[in-house]
Amino acid sequence: MSKTIIISNRLPLQISIENDQLDVTPSVGGLATGLKSFHKDGDSVWIGWPGLTEEEIPENLKEEVQKKAKEENCVAVHLTSDEIDGFYYGFSNRTIWPLFHYFMEYTESDDQFWRVYQQVNQKYADEILKHYEEGDVIWVHDYQLLLVPNMIREKAPEAVIGFFNHIPFPSYEVFRTLPWRDEVLKGVLGADLIGFHTYDYERHFLSSVSRILRHQVDFNEVTLPDRIVKVDSFPMGIDYKKFEQAALDHFESTSENQSELQRRLDHHLEATPEAKMILSIDRLDYTKGIAHRIRAYEYFLDKYPEYIEKVRLVMLAVPSRSNVPQYRRLKREVDELVGRINGKFSTVSWTPIWYFYRSMPFENLIDLYTTCEIALLTPIRDGMNLVAKEYVATRTNKTGVLILSEMAGAAHEMNEAIIINPNNFEQVADALKTAFNMPKEEQVDRNKMLQKRLRRYSVEKWAQDFMKALRATRENRDSFKATRITPKISDEIMEQFRKAEKKILFIDYDGTLVNFVDKPEDAKPDAELKELIRSLNASEDTDVILISGRDKNTLGSWWKDVPVELISEHGVWMRQIDGEWELSENVKSEWMDAVRPVIENFVDRTPGTFIEEKNYSLAWHYRKADPQLGEIRANELSNVLKELISNRGLSVLEGNKVLEIKSSDVNKGKACSKKLVGENYDFIFAIGDDWTDEYMFQELPESAHTVKVGIKKTSARFYVEGTPKVRTLLEKFRDNL
Ligand code: UDP
Repeated sequence: MSKTIIISNRLPLQISIENDQLDVTPSVGGLATGLKSFHKDGDSVWIGWPGLTEEEIPENLKEEVQKKAKEENCVAVHLTSDEIDGFYYGFSNRTIWPLFHYFMEYTESDDQFWRVYQQVNQKYADEILKHYEEGDVIWVHDYQLLLVPNMIREKAPEAVIGFFNHIPFPSYEVFRTLPWRDEVLKGVLGADLIGFHTYDYERHFLSSVSRILRHQVDFNEVTLPDRIVKVDSFPMGIDYKKFEQAALDHFESTSENQSELQRRLDHHLEATPEAKMILSIDRLDYTKGIAHRIRAYEYFLDKYPEYIEKVRLVMLAVPSRSNVPQYRRLKREVDELVGRINGKFSTVSWTPIWYFYRSMPFENLIDLYTTCEIALLTPIRDGMNLVAKEYVATRTNKTGVLILSEMAGAAHEMNEAIIINPNNFEQVADALKTAFNMPKEEQVDRNKMLQKRLRRYSVEKWAQDFMKALRATRENRDSFKATRITPKISDEIMEQFRKAEKKILFIDYDGTLVNFVDKPEDAKPDAELKELIRSLNASEDTDVILISGRDKNTLGSWWKDVPVELISEHGVWMRQIDGEWELSENVKSEWMDAVRPVIENFVDRTPGTFIEEKNYSLAWHYRKADPQLGEIRANELSNVLKELISNRGLSVLEGNKVLEIKSSDVNKGKACSKKLVGENYDFIFAIGDDWTDEYMFQELPESAHTVKVGIKKTSARFYVEGTPKVRTLLEKFRDNL
């Protein structure tokens, strides 16, 4: 039976060793909750680091760790402290984390970190491959494992792989500064489905893919030579019921059951009933805007001194990544700021900031969420911010005001909160005033809407949606119209080829025999290719025809020493084996003078584009233009041209990053048909990658073996993944002559 394989940096387990005694308990983070139905209740395995380095686990307990992990359906990837330093504290947290959160000045480009990151990603991938069986679904999580999807794909090309990025994906302008940007993008693109929290992260990723790797991007799909990768947004939710129930239990509890923290909070509330508490909870991370928040709070107290003694900022900062220098500096900065502001505003009976630098048990978090009437969450950048969602879920009487930074992913779904720009202190101060004075009915109205959405889109729903979309990628793959040429199908084609008495092969050039390059004049055939075509054409009973959109001079000069028939400009010219070019009937060229200036205007306005002038057609190439601008202008030009040429017997061909205007009576399909007239070929083969090749696939008889190069919509019967596969296929023909 097929299973789910989940991979994250950390296993959802807490492991501790005391006096040579091992203790392993499941941890209940958001991800573990979301995946519960696939992991705990289903057939699945979770692969990750157990949280202790190899050095920290005594040799005699290593097997025990694996055994205990197995009881929870987990597999431990053991990492040394050097690996953790380079991979986790290094590349993950000193390169990717700051860069993806737009802290370019903190981003380090260290070769050694990168090397260890690759090694450790490979270690995870190897562990996955040990457990992978055909039919399994693999789900890789987060920025520590960006290279894993492609590392799996290389060894298991058929695998169904999902990847979810739990942090932001930065704009192309920021991402492009990463020295290893190509490798990182290729790593992630090993997946079939790539998920982000928000649409913005999704479009930033797609823009980087199209600009850096120059892959074709259509809406939210990336077309690779052999696969289509889907990219989508799935905003992660919380375990809503758990927080709601905890809040309800909290209100039910008697005073004897109350925590010490709650008692203290109540004591202050009773002493100053008109005062309100403002909650702030984050990991101590520079992305969370903690220092900004304290300064904005100071600004608020300066601007509206009437709130002195009426508000308290209850600030919980959870220690995090203290091995990384920026985090240690931030800790000092926050300590100093809290000290300064408390010194500046405190009165004998009041302190403006209560600062806790530690993590708190779940019950205490609930105490804080339920007691504080305002939550002030102002990250400078945050992939999602679950605290905002948890706060709203615990407000079971529907009061409370959430002030949330627009830079948090959660802000996209939480419009009813007061959304602020954390860098605008004026706005933060005014938001605090608004929150303090917000009428109860308005609070209830806002929270009702927020809670409805959060309850529905819980973390379980998030995980289910992602898995559903991931499984659908497999079905899409299977329902692809053309059939992939497997070794078995290729053998069957060869069998028919051998048996046939008169055979013809129509072969497109660019994108089929050679790959696309930036400058079309650089795509010359190599010696090996020439030899292959020569030997294919050497047999009496086999005719080979190279059929291209290229102009006759280029094509003629590249193939001048090879005895092969050529069709150029989509069928305008035909060159016989003896080297003479013949012009097809029905071609006109007098329209060119009227159309050329229109295209020239687009060349002027679209950097990187140019006109190719052929004898009987004009082509506008935009491969080197900015991909998005190129698509927009191509669309525009196509519309302008279609209007201009209507009723003139001309047509616009939309090829691969090229628009071509030519006589409607000329296309590759018509050219092929002409070759078949009066002949009795009993084996017809045609192969091409482009839209213009579809004319051949459509015009040739149904029995023809038509083959598309790449995964695109097509009328061809078969497809192969890329130019190397085309060569393999043609070599097989040669060997079966
Ligand atoms: N949290 C916790 N202990 C604490 C404070 C917070 O477990 O003492 C939890 C909190 O409930 C939330 C998570 O830490 O689920 C923080 O998630 P968020 O998305 O807000 O930020 P991240 O730390 O992932 O950047």
